Amino acid sequence: MNIHEYQAKQVLKGFGAPVAEGVPVFKAGEAEAAANKLPGPLYVVKSQIHAGGRGKGKFKELGPDAKGGVRLSKSVAEVIANVNEMLGNTLVTKQTGPAGKQVNRLYIEDGADIDRELYLSILVDRTVGRVAFVVSTEGGMDIETVAHDTPEKIVTLAIDPDKGVTDADVEKLNAALKLTGGAADDGALLFPVLYKAFVEKDMSLLEVNPLIVMKNGRLRVLDAKVSFDNNALFRHPDVVDLRDTTEEDEKEIEASKYDLAYVALDGNIGCMVNGAGLAMATMDIIKLYGAEPANFLDVGGGASKEKVTAAFKIITADPAVKGILVNIFGGIMKCDVIAEGVVAAVKEVGLKVPLVVRLEGTNAELGKQILRDSKLNVQPADDLDDAAKKIVAAVGK
Ligand code: ADP
Ligand code: MG
Repeated sequence: MNIHEYQAKQVLKGFGAPVAEGVPVFKAGEAEAAANKLPGPLYVVKSQIHAGGRGKGKFKELGPDAKGGVRLSKSVAEVIANVNEMLGNTLVTKQTGPAGKQVNRLYIEDGADIDRELYLSILVDRTVGRVAFVVSTEGGMDIETVAHDTPEKIVTLAIDPDKGVTDADVEKLNAALKLTGGAADDGALLFPVLYKAFVEKDMSLLEVNPLIVMKNGRLRVLDAKVSFDNNALFRHPDVVDLRDTTEEDEKEIEASKYDLAYVALDGNIGCMVNGAGLAMATMDIIKLYGAEPANFLDVGGGASKEKVTAAFKIITADPAVKGILVNIFGGIMKCDVIAEGVVAAVKEVGLKVPLVVRLEGTNAELGKQILRDSKLNVQPADDLDDAAKKIVAAVGK
């Protein structure tokens, strides 16, 4: 689960991280009072959407010459003008895709005097099985570009879970970020604080880009992106309260109601699979045959007919889906339950695209019989390879 920048800063502030003063704004009428709460004379109006690259983003409605999604403002009047121009419009950034995201919240923040922009993130480094810091002196820009062009400027430091962030770790991070004097002192306080926040709140990603050194030599968290591990949300009701469903894919929200592991993707072949590994393999083989999956979907082990029906309806409701591949290897999952779920869903919502079904394992014959009896226009497949070829051929590249 992702949250907005202003919420992430609130969480980090609670742990003691240095963040600027700021006030979120939901309606244009709130802008003046919000700005008046800040010291001035420099303010920043920041679009709050679940995507980065806002500074360089463009508002669809305002044309290419208008300013971006993060705007410096030199007076309260300028803050108000910016809020009026930005709120409700659609911001397109490198991360939103061409459709962009509607800006329904803004964050008015105290402007900082920036000396240097750094990059810092904390993530789970699966190669070493530890939480790791990733830092670079090249902050404020696309870290992917830095990784591609100058990988030597990115330093990764894994943390020993028994010890936490040690003095030696602090020294290494300060050295990697070229922090000295007061900034290094701030680093010694900040790194353990961010690590603590990451671990205690079960984050899966904490990205501060940029972390800045201000003209006065101190550190400040200037941008913050936080993702939480969904599997641990049950123990963080305070985090769940921060959820903004307007930022999430409708299909994913619907899937989460049925406890389905579903991720929307950009392709046109809808997939219904049991088991995450098989679902990954199914997406891979669709790509191998030259097409793109429209989603990742693992219906799970012991799914009920209702769950399968819901899953199939989510797939068919996606207008991008031009064909569906059902790939079930029944172990705990029974193939007849899958077949019944598919038939029930089609009875309710119809079937306008080709459907290829591969059933194997527990009750496979029964499942195939149910599909035959239903008189649905189903193309049966013998194995995964055959299934992928058939659905790609039916959809056409
Ligand atoms: P994004 O990464 O989505 O573009 P950021 O929060 O990183 O958004 O803002 C983009 C840039 O705007 C920063 O790199 C920084 O140069 C500037 N900026 C952001 N917030 C402030 C602030 N409070 N004071 C001064 N400059 C800011
Ligand atoms: Mg940023």
